[in-house]
Amino acid sequence: MADRDSRGPSTRVVHGQPRHGGGPVGTPILHSTTFEFASVADLIAARDQKAAGAFYQRLGHPTLNACEERLAALESAEQALLFSSGMAAISSVMLAHVKAGDRVVAMQQCYGGTLDVLHWGSERFGWSVELLDARNPRGWEAALAKRPKLLHVESPTNPTLCVVDIAEAAKLAHRHGALLSVDNTVASPLGQSPLQLGADLVLYSATKSIGGHSDLLAGVALGASQVLEPVWHVRHVFGGVPDPSVAWLVERSLMTLALRVERMNANAAELARRLAQDPRVARVFHPSLESHPGHEIARRQMRLGFGSLLAFEVRGGAFGAETVSEALAVAKNAPSLGSVHTLVSLPIHTSHRKMTSEQRAEAGIPDGLVRVSAGIEDLEDLWKDFDRALAMVGMVTARG
Ligand SMILES: *Cc1c(COP(=O)(O)O)cnc(C)c1O
Repeated sequence: MADRDSRGPSTRVVHGQPRHGGGPVGTPILHSTTFEFASVADLIAARDQKAAGAFYQRLGHPTLNACEERLAALESAEQALLFSSGMAAISSVMLAHVKAGDRVVAMQQCYGGTLDVLHWGSERFGWSVELLDARNPRGWEAALAKRPKLLHVESPTNPTLCVVDIAEAAKLAHRHGALLSVDNTVASPLGQSPLQLGADLVLYSATKSIGGHSDLLAGVALGASQVLEPVWHVRHVFGGVPDPSVAWLVERSLMTLALRVERMNANAAELARRLAQDPRVARVFHPSLESHPGHEIARRQMRLGFGSLLAFEVRGGAFGAETVSEALAVAKNAPSLGSVHTLVSLPIHTSHRKMTSEQRAEAGIPDGLVRVSAGIEDLEDLWKDFDRALAMVGMVTARG
């Protein structure tokens, strides 16, 4: 998709669509669930505008529309749809574009909730799912040759930050007549532009960096209006629409996204650099490191750094990781990402708790893995926190 808006993404996210004429700078929150019309013709006209209209709140809503327009402007997308959660957006895309008898191809490394929806849909709706290993894209052609409706990818992935070449994935999908959808939550809309790289749909958990303050739940789907039309229909039928005050808060949060992403990404890269030099750490996963297998691709397709998510393996296995997470005082032991607060979680107790140790090893996730979502705090405070927590592992182990 050509980017016709010559303004930079940080300008677009602050100002939204160019506007002429007076009015409030901020968006007013309008709480009405329904709208009245002077004539039947007016009512029909508003109804037929669907997502863009002001007819009944579940179809579309002025406060929602303002936020959606800003999101679309940010990514030069034709349209954006806001949802009540990331999972509402992702499941609506699956329900809109995959039906009984269709195939969908995704990655083993995809978000757990996405894999749950895909497996649930294969039981309930009779679509079929094939999962690919993000670490081995050479094996993907065979799955696409079976002509799935949709290829769904994430990059970088959680928690070991596998990088997928989005432009290559788009070419592969299109060569076989599939749509490419990208869950861009971890990179953020300013960190990576999948639509510019050829994706048909971009999805977000706005709960993460878009909201950014660990205080709202929302989701986004972006793309061409034609691709989003059936997704809007699912939102309208299943009802996963956010409240106007949430839509307002998402729009309000977007205006500081560039500053937050730059700072989070810089903190993440510096933490990764220092941890990689630390003898108490066995391994660090972050695309900023030249040793990372996805470094070159990430450098090509990511902006403002390499993302705020990193992970490291503590020497001392699960016990070492638990000791570190409990010893941290600035970083919070909490399962989310993209927040102004630095958050730490242990995949063995969160995203990958249902796997055995062997299955995790096969997936490349060591038991001593600590996932870190870097926040915007002062770097030296974060480093002191991690340094002290890592020292605890040695002390506890030495004491026996
Ligand atoms: C959190 C997350 C989701 C789910 O979003 P919710 O807002 O929690 O529904 C989907 N994908 C990724 C990559 C996530 O991190």
